[in-house]
Amino acid sequence: MKTDFAELEKNIQDILAAPEYQDHPASKALSQLWDVNQEQWNRMDRLTRLSDSYQDVMIQQGKSLSERFDKHVRQLEKMTRISDRYQRSLRQLNIELEKTSLIDPLTELPNRRMIMKQLSQAFSGQQKESLSIAMIDIDYFKKVNDEFGHQVGDKVLIALSRLMESVVGDRGVIGRWGGEEFLVILTSPKFEDVVALLESLRSKVNAYTHQVDDKTVLTSVSIGIAEYQETDSMDSLLSRADSALYSVKSKGRNSLVIG
Ligand code: GH3
Ligand code: MG
Ligand code: MG
Repeated sequence: MKTDFAELEKNIQDILAAPEYQDHPASKALSQLWDVNQEQWNRMDRLTRLSDSYQDVMIQQGKSLSERFDKHVRQLEKMTRISDRYQRSLRQLNIELEKTSLIDPLTELPNRRMIMKQLSQAFSGQQKESLSIAMIDIDYFKKVNDEFGHQVGDKVLIALSRLMESVVGDRGVIGRWGGEEFLVILTSPKFEDVVALLESLRSKVNAYTHQVDDKTVLTSVSIGIAEYQETDSMDSLLSRADSALYSVKSKGRNSLVIG
């Protein structure tokens, strides 16, 4: 049964206040007991208050701890975001660097380094039996520069690059070997197809006209072709294409020769 402390207190107070109990020894004892009880009660009360404030302190500390923890987490998140962004821009920079180191800035074709890389890949690949290369050189290009200026020369180089790139399409890859020279890598099981494609390229360049004011720039290319042979190294294949090109030039240009 639960004790009703309020009723108990009232009863005790009534007893202590009643004149007939005033000098009664039991009343004295009860009064002393009551005092002791009050003291205990006060102590309990103090303890409870202490405990409450202790809990408050604990909660406060807990709160500030979690606040400090949150702050650290936010700082960490910020640092992670910065680091992520930094890494992304580094990666982007790397891609740009890789691109610029492999792409010719004027014509935007693969540069010599890249085309050599691709040739070396084709050379170590399984399709090397059907590999052919072509060395292309623009005829009398010095004259274009002399007559129309270097800037026009640059524009012609760019325009011819786009034209030749579109003829090669996905049947191979064309890169700028240097100056007004280009290298084409073709992988085709039929060598006649390679020759036909290069003949079409020669004829399209020959038909191409570049207008400068009222003047027309006419161009042509000489092409030296080399088909992969079992005994070939990359160097020997390139040198056969180069010799073939040289022989086109000596025969009069605007043509192709198989080396
Ligand atoms: P050939 O038919 O014997 O090849 O005659 P060519 O005049 O084309 O040959 P040559 O090697 O004597 O001259 C090549 C010219 O190409 C000279 C050079 O100024 C020009 N050239 C090379 N690269 C560039 C370039 O990036 N821009 C311009 N405008 N001209 C270039
Ligand atoms: Mg040249
Ligand atoms: Mg030339």
